[in-house]
Amino acid sequence: MQRRVFLGLGAAALAGVGLSSVTPRAWASAAQGERRLALFNLHTQEHLNLVYWADGAYISENIDQIDHILRDFRTGEVAKINLRVLDYLNGISEKMALHEPLQIVSGYRSARTNDMLHRRDGDGVAKNSLHTRGMAVDIKLRHTSLENLHKAALATRRGGVGYYPEKFIHVDVGPVRQWRKKT
Ligand SMILES: [Zn+2]
Repeated sequence: MQRRVFLGLGAAALAGVGLSSVTPRAWASAAQGERRLALFNLHTQEHLNLVYWADGAYISENIDQIDHILRDFRTGEVAKINLRVLDYLNGISEKMALHEPLQIVSGYRSARTNDMLHRRDGDGVAKNSLHTRGMAVDIKLRHTSLENLHKAALATRRGGVGYYPEKFIHVDVGPVRQWRKKT
């Protein structure tokens, strides 16, 4: 039922009815048979909003686009992001019924970039960070508080959650655990 509603809106937009400014965009998946992600990379200003899983299967060309937007923007290196990270982000988006993209503060980090950040920021960046294995992403929202994002991340419980007040929420698909960075 919900899927029909979503498709209907899409058809209206495609028909060029000129609703682009008022048509509600699908930020979270309306249908159970698909998983969507809307991401905005704060460093590169790139954004995407796409279905990456449908009818029981991951859609590889769309996964490639997600890997690309989550690349190490400092070196340009693209890595395979663990699919469970995508599902974690999707789970958070669904739980919050988001109407805005998740803002990416940090996705994949090459070992070189991570070492540089570790030297610069000390304990704010772990030496063997899960970011270097495509297993972690740091996120925030433009129109929603970090506190609410933090709660949703904890409630989704798919791995680690770090709270960096006034900066971002770290989520990873390592063991379920949590920490809060002191301000
Ligand atoms: Zn992180």
